[in-house]
Formats: sequence, structure tokens, C-alpha cells
Amino acid sequence: MIYNVASLLTAREGTERLAAIEDGEVYTDRHRFVRVTGPVRMLRTDRTVMVSASVSATVYDTCSRCLAPAELNIDSEFEEEFEPVNRDLMSDRPAPGQSEFDPALIIDARNTLDMTDALAQALSLTVPLAPLCKPDCSGICSTCFANRNQFACKCDQNPIDPRWRSLAELSARTSNSNS
Ligand SMILES: [Zn+2]
Ligand SMILES: [Zn+2]
Repeated sequence: MIYNVASLLTAREGTERLAAIEDGEVYTDRHRFVRVTGPVRMLRTDRTVMVSASVSATVYDTCSRCLAPAELNIDSEFEEEFEPVNRDLMSDRPAPGQSEFDPALIIDARNTLDMTDALAQALSLTVPLAPLCKPDCSGICSTCFANRNQFACKCDQNPIDPRWRSLAELSARTSNSNS
């Protein structure tokens, strides 16, 4: 995911270079993505290198229902423009008002384009907010806290909205004491 793009920077606008990511790994603070795989296309624009990639990856997270480890397969269509810090390699003058570089999206002074961090960020956006260990995960019993994937407890599984549970318990106690 690290490419020397010197030849691309000195090439004509519209020049393309193809690469491939095979079984890569990238990280964010929260996630580790493995088996990152897919084609990469680098296109010389007037001032930047546009990188497009179609990647699939595997990420480890926690199941939102049963809290067991969850292995998720995700796909991402990546597209970002990388700006060279060596602007003199490009024929154009700097774009007006563009003085700040996003550190994840630069081509450094040695003409190295490193898409690792930007790709990790893009992949992290595709991780589901409520991941599941399997599509039909039975979750944790709200009564006895058993992992119902491993142990089919006999508790009443009528789901009670947690906001109403204390009210339901109260009314159960009240009706018991009245009888
Ligand atoms: Zn689960
Ligand atoms: Zn139970």
C-alpha cells in the first residue's frame, strides 16, 4: 500500500498506473483489518494523484447482541486524491488557498504515496454500527444473562423494552402481593 510514484508525477496528466493489494493489513485505533485485497488504480490528474481501490477485508469486532468476537467481511470503494509536497514536479502552480496538507493524503518528498492510513479510515467507515457474530445470533438472555447461542435457557423471551422493564417488574410484584 506504499508506492513510489515519481514516474507518475513526471508523466502526462491522465497517465494511469495499476497495482494490487494482496492480503494486506491496516489498523485504526479501534479496528484491525486483515486480508485486505483488491485492485488499485492511480491516475495522474493536473495536480494530484487520484487513487481508486476496490477492496475487501476482514475485521474483528464484538457482536452487538452476545458480545462474542465477531469476524466481519467488508467491502469498500476507496477514492482519494493524494497531493505531492514536491509541487515543482507538477507542471501547475499550487492551487490557490491550498497550503494545508492532510497528512494521510500526501505524496512525500521522496515521492512516496502511502495509502495505508487513508484506507484504514475508509474501511473503518464501513464497519457496521451493530456488528453480529452471525446473522441469526440469539444474543444474551435479558433475564438470566446466558449466551443463548450456547445455552437455550427456558426464560420467557418476550422482549421487554428495557425502558419499560422496571415498570413491568413493579406491576408483576404488585399483582403478586394483591393475590
Ligand atoms: Zn452474537
Ligand atoms: Zn435466560
